[in-house]
Amino acid sequence: MSLLKEAVERMVIGADHVHAAATVRRRQRQFVPPSELYPVGTRVDTALVDQLFYATVDECPDPHCRPLLLDRVAHDVWSTRKLVDWACFITSETYCGLPAELVDEQASADSVFRPSVTFRRLAAEYHNSKAINSIYDACTAAQLREAADTAVALVDGLQVWGADFLYQ
Ligand SMILES: [Zn+2]
Repeated sequence: MSLLKEAVERMVIGADHVHAAATVRRRQRQFVPPSELYPVGTRVDTALVDQLFYATVDECPDPHCRPLLLDRVAHDVWSTRKLVDWACFITSETYCGLPAELVDEQASADSVFRPSVTFRRLAAEYHNSKAINSIYDACTAAQLREAADTAVALVDGLQVWGADFLYQ
């Protein structure tokens, strides 16, 4: 990243640092970042979704960092959808399908990891790729925020725990 681009990115995000692939903490497993999951989607803010993921992996101690990134994602339907698709793809690969704990209210009540209501709803529609845009468009910023939050927390958990994550 050029110095200018880095400076601009810092200004936009409002934190005094960035999280990137080159500096991110290592986990036991390394999943592809959201920006690299095909198809990328031209309207996705790839720098933003990757920053949010890496800030989560880094367990950033700055109290403003992750919330600011989530605030930005919350106003971006395309980036939120990218994060949910990416998390559902990785989860499906890990468990050979989406576990009931991530889509079903009753099943999720017993799991240690608590997916947000909106994430469960969007994950349940994950395979319905044609009908899904309107569902995202109907979400409030707060709903998009909680879905994005769950998506990155889920992938981060899978990086640490693997398939044990939902059944610790
Ligand atoms: Zn940070």
